[in-house]
Amino acid sequence: MNLHKLIFTSNACYKAGRKINPKGIMIHSTGANNPWLKRYVGPDDGLLGKNQYNNYWNQPMDRDVCVHAFIGKLADGTVATYQTLPWDHRGWHAGGSANDTHISFEICEDDLTDADYLDKVYHEAVDLCVYLCGLYGLTEQDIICHCEGHDLGIASNHADVLHWWPKHGKNMDTFRAAVKDKLRCSAEHTLDNTPSEWSEAAVEWTVKNGLMVGNDNGNLMLRSPLTREQFCVILERYHNRFHLT
Ligand SMILES: [Zn+2]
Repeated sequence: MNLHKLIFTSNACYKAGRKINPKGIMIHSTGANNPWLKRYVGPDDGLLGKNQYNNYWNQPMDRDVCVHAFIGKLADGTVATYQTLPWDHRGWHAGGSANDTHISFEICEDDLTDADYLDKVYHEAVDLCVYLCGLYGLTEQDIICHCEGHDLGIASNHADVLHWWPKHGKNMDTFRAAVKDKLRCSAEHTLDNTPSEWSEAAVEWTVKNGLMVGNDNGNLMLRSPLTREQFCVILERYHNRFHLT
């Protein structure tokens, strides 16, 4: 994830200053053919590029709209995420009670025909959701799009993102499955690399002395069994490390 921060302190939503206890995430897409972040996020920070109309959302506006983040293109064409409200701020995105419960982000739409662009913003959105699930103890089950929010009676009648993603073989079920997969990987990674209290000092000493180096990904596999082969390698490292004769 390519996460940046530009909080919309000049938007009336930020000034309203209400907080929520996040219970879920609602995904939106903008409904306009303009994949550039600078359309919505500004002023230019050197990466966004200049919005020649100065009509980004970080200012007083004629409608009450504001989300917690945007995903779209930087000036150089790469895809990035901009956080635009504190995650526990009450956003103005759903036109319904989801404003009181859901963190929201907008994905900048293009003309909806570019599979490569959708693939990039889709995976950026997966990473953002995995990150937010970690922050607030949420799971993939807590993620919906605006369209699903309407079906649940907590958002206004909009089609996003289901007027777009299915054109390219993606939908909210594939999205939740992708988030679930990454959450499982990151839980395993934590288990594999976070020692219990009773072994913490020994693990630190073992790693510091190069007796245990982990797998190709540097993953210590702390809760996996040891084979006799691996035991021999560790014995040899111990021997070499402490110059035993
Ligand atoms: Zn929406």
